Amino acid sequence: MAWRTVTKTTGKHEITIIGAGIVGIATAIYLQRDGHRVVVVDKGDPGRATSYGNAGSIAPSSIIPMALPGTLKNVPKWITDPLGPLTVSWRQIPSLLPWFWHFRNACTKEAASRGARALRSLNGPSLESYRALLASAGAPDLLRHDGMLHVYRTEAGFAGSAFARQLRTDYAGEVEIVDAARIHDLEPALASAYRLGFFLRDNGHVRSPLRVVQVLARHFTDGGGTLVRATVEGLKLDGDAPVALRTDRGDMPVDRVVISAGAWSQPLAKQVGVRAPLAHERGYHVEIADPGIDMRLPVTDGEGKFVATPMEGGIRIAGTSEFSRADAPANWARTQALAKLGARLLPDLKVDRYEQWMGTRPSIPDSLPIVGRAPRSDRVYLAYGHGHFGLMAAPATGQVISDLVAGRAPRIDIAPFRPDRFT
Ligand SMILES: Cc1cc2nc3c(=O)[nH]c(=O)nc-3n(C[C@H](O)[C@H](O)[C@H](O)COP(=O)(O)OP(=O)(O)OC[C@H]3O[C@@H](n4cnc5c(N)ncnc54)[C@H](O)[C@@H]3O)c2cc1C
Repeated sequence: MAWRTVTKTTGKHEITIIGAGIVGIATAIYLQRDGHRVVVVDKGDPGRATSYGNAGSIAPSSIIPMALPGTLKNVPKWITDPLGPLTVSWRQIPSLLPWFWHFRNACTKEAASRGARALRSLNGPSLESYRALLASAGAPDLLRHDGMLHVYRTEAGFAGSAFARQLRTDYAGEVEIVDAARIHDLEPALASAYRLGFFLRDNGHVRSPLRVVQVLARHFTDGGGTLVRATVEGLKLDGDAPVALRTDRGDMPVDRVVISAGAWSQPLAKQVGVRAPLAHERGYHVEIADPGIDMRLPVTDGEGKFVATPMEGGIRIAGTSEFSRADAPANWARTQALAKLGARLLPDLKVDRYEQWMGTRPSIPDSLPIVGRAPRSDRVYLAYGHGHFGLMAAPATGQVISDLVAGRAPRIDIAPFRPDRFT
């Protein structure tokens, strides 16, 4: 097929973004607002990969990295419990060793504090950014600002969250400690066994993560942006400069490229000198269209490590960290476990029928994405590896990329997200 040749105009650029997940689409909108000509290439429809099935949380205080001082000692308990949040494919262990090594190094108080501060800079503005983005896309009702409740059944579980709560207080502000009465006042649908917890008033959620990407993608194309369906097989470089994408539909000429292909970014990023370890951390959800109950707000079970969110399609129970090959068959025992956990959290929930889904988080060991210029090419930008936080971190990521392309100083300190921090 014939692609248009790239023409350059001073100050304005032709930018090709690989990936139409939430990160690619948010980035496309901010670049478009700066007056650049933007093309987004995806092998599928916008928002149909990992951005489809997340828990919808838009949380300025969601700043806790996965690697914490107590995380490793919980691994045996999590792995052996059939309802536990963690599974690892044993065959994958040899290839995951470098990732686990960096993860283990990040399990210190100092690294967790640095990570929380960095995540706050990305996730802190998330609610305001989505309010503005969704309003300009004509879909303000997709965003809710009802807060989020974190609940525990045991004193030990609640005590185990003390360090993370302190980080939230230090870097993200108000954490309201709640007792059983307040928990049930905030969310009457919860089981009475949940007696301890905290409430994060400044948190919000979206009522359909898929529709968020779809309305923003439509906003982008209505504004003159182009979506192209193609599978990118690699970058064609002239020295270090990108000249074309190799795709299943032929070579596509490019001038500047943003790699935001989520969990599939690593082979492309390697071509421009990025060696950061990336794991395919799969997660699951069940969504119950006819749940038989009303939920007022999203709830995290702090011990079970899953989230229940009221969505426009029903109640969604999401969670699980499964380290596996991205293309391994889904393990639907994980959704059965989530359905059981959901019924434990919400005793009147009808879980006999549900939609089930599996998706792949692009996870970096320190829980921070890779955002910045490629080490070996100043015309390739990186915006991937958002792990558990990609929905909420997408607007700030897109704004940073637009700052870099425009030659402005990035609006936040991007040193913690440096692509070369693992080398
Ligand atoms: C169970 C679960 C719950 C979660 N809950 C939350 C939450 O509450 N809040 C939150 O902020 N985050 C949450 N997340 C994380 C969030 O969903 C991800 O971080 C985010 O979706 C990543 O977005 P992305 O755009 O980087 O990737 P994706 O959505 O996966 O998009 C990548 C796109 O790139 C395309 N692509 C890949 N390779 C190629 C190629 N070679 N050529 C062309 N196209 C390509 C894909 O088709 C895809 O459309 C959750 C994740 C899971 C699994």
